[in-house]
Amino acid sequence: MEKQQFQAESKRLLELMIHSIYSQKEIFLRELISNASDAIDKIYYKALTDDSLRFDQDSYYIKVIPDKENRTLRILDTGIGMTREELENNLGVIAKSGSLAFKSEHELKDGHDIIGQFGVGFYSAFMVADVVTVISRALGSEQAFKWESSGADGYVIVPAEKDEVGTEIILKIKENTEDENFDEFLEEYRLQAIIKKYSDFIRYPIKMDVTRQRPKEGSENEFEEYREEQIINSMVPIWRKNKSELAPEDYENFYREKRYGFDKPLKHIHIHADGVVRYNAILFIPEHMPFDFYTKEYEKGLELYSNGVLIMSKCPDLLPDYYSFVKGMVDSEDLSLNISREILQHDKQLKLIAKNIKSKITSQLQSLLKDDREKYEQFYNTFGRQLKYGVYSDFGSNKETLQDLLMFYSSKEKKLVTLAEYVARMPEEQKYIYYATGETIERIEKLPQIELVSDKGYEILYFTEDIDEFAVKMLMTYKEKEFKAVSSGDLGIEAEETADSASQESENKDLFAFMKEVLGDKVKDVRVSKRLKSHPVCLSTDGEVTIEMEKVLKSMPNNPNIKAEKVLEMNPHHEVFQALKAAFASDKEKLRVYTNVLYNQALLIEGLPVNDPVAYANDVCKLMV
Ligand code: ADP
Repeated sequence: MEKQQFQAESKRLLELMIHSIYSQKEIFLRELISNASDAIDKIYYKALTDDSLRFDQDSYYIKVIPDKENRTLRILDTGIGMTREELENNLGVIAKSGSLAFKSEHELKDGHDIIGQFGVGFYSAFMVADVVTVISRALGSEQAFKWESSGADGYVIVPAEKDEVGTEIILKIKENTEDENFDEFLEEYRLQAIIKKYSDFIRYPIKMDVTRQRPKEGSENEFEEYREEQIINSMVPIWRKNKSELAPEDYENFYREKRYGFDKPLKHIHIHADGVVRYNAILFIPEHMPFDFYTKEYEKGLELYSNGVLIMSKCPDLLPDYYSFVKGMVDSEDLSLNISREILQHDKQLKLIAKNIKSKITSQLQSLLKDDREKYEQFYNTFGRQLKYGVYSDFGSNKETLQDLLMFYSSKEKKLVTLAEYVARMPEEQKYIYYATGETIERIEKLPQIELVSDKGYEILYFTEDIDEFAVKMLMTYKEKEFKAVSSGDLGIEAEETADSASQESENKDLFAFMKEVLGDKVKDVRVSKRLKSHPVCLSTDGEVTIEMEKVLKSMPNNPNIKAEKVLEMNPHHEVFQALKAAFASDKEKLRVYTNVLYNQALLIEGLPVNDPVAYANDVCKLMV
């Protein structure tokens, strides 16, 4: 019998399959089982409209039969089967294969991923088999046909015998090679594990004869093996069940079974979406941060199922980076037909689902904040930083989504508060949302710069993480209120002593000019402070870049060398100021030392390094003798 040739495209894909050292060969079973399940679906749908067909649950199944001796693996189904023409058309061609079009634009190594993620159906059998035989009898036909191929050289179709309607696929499993093991695809336990992993939620039973042990009759310590048919898949996925049928423990068990984390979920989100895109999803917010969360090994993503079949174990496109801590899975029927064919089309669906999921997570977090503050704070303490990064990244395009989920420590409440709460409490005359930055709450509390604002009775938000200030700079305003660092030049507070400070400023003009000269480029200006009450000195900044931002920028790998415009502020009512004035009148050398010492002290208060600690120490000693 003469061999027929595969169409050119199919041939290329076949070659790709056979020759790629493909890391996930095991997915061939998923592909064949999915095809079998589709074939049963077809009978099921036909039976809905055709009274002569009765869909009797028990007679529809898939069976997997390994045979080590003959080195074959058989996959049977009681589905709709294929006619001779269908064998020819379906298995001889991959006419509009999206996977293949995609492949041609990519290197072979990327091709592996494509296969792994989207599947190319039937042809994947050639990854593990030298010869693939398909015996099929179509519904309504007495005659069966056999299709057989040993790869790229073509295929033959001949008439065959088959008692039942359906399809049987026989894989002649390859011999092991030096670096590839194929024996595993004949091992019962391995096949069970593969079925569990990828096809657990196929709607029809996937059966297999499993070897078990039982005590030998008439003997107490001898065992005998026997074989028993088992259903390997669990068939009803939890995500298809109604929320009302499920208890929190069910979700916890699922979280554990799926190994989403070693902890318990802090919260689960179960979605049945039935709108423009239809999908079911179960998402989890973990209780603890995954141990590798801030390493480059951490991969965000959700499991992606198409109609109950796992097609990707970490689909990153389903989650924005700022929700990268979310675990879980998505199952959509709308993906099923597109997945192996048109990846782009598939992409569009995926984008819609991703968008939908994003807003679901956001609204769930919002209601958690509203309804269970304690739990939300627990969440926020673990993952809040991620949200702040979210505000900052992508040029602030997500700030609307995220701003109401942010919390900061409040000087007044001594706990985390939201921006909405802060703004609602603002006295009418208060212009800005004030914040102070520092390493810890305790250190911020001691900062001289916060004196004026807190004496005024205004609430201050304490920023202790690098990202905080960058995030609010990106926000710019919240409910039209601008953010203002307590150390910035203009605090928008009408100090009572304005007149006083103006006269102090002009009275001591020469003193300040001298001090500025001593400090040179280190400061932009030396001036009278309007914010200091009890402390002698502090640093403030003019312009947008604050000292805290300078610190963060300095620690960045490509150090952009952006500097804050520092101002040394003096408290004219402090005793130290009298000493400065006296030195200015009688001993300029001493004033030089004073100036340097005060400047260095201001640096230390800010948590900035002193440039020349030895000179500083010597200056202090000079003053002591
Ligand atoms: P896909 O499943 O993406 O359509 P495949 O290469 O896996 O691509 O299969 C091609 C076609 O062959 C299927 O669409 C189906 O019509 C037919 N087919 C494959 N396996 C079976 C089966 N077990 N029973 C009936 N038809 C099948």
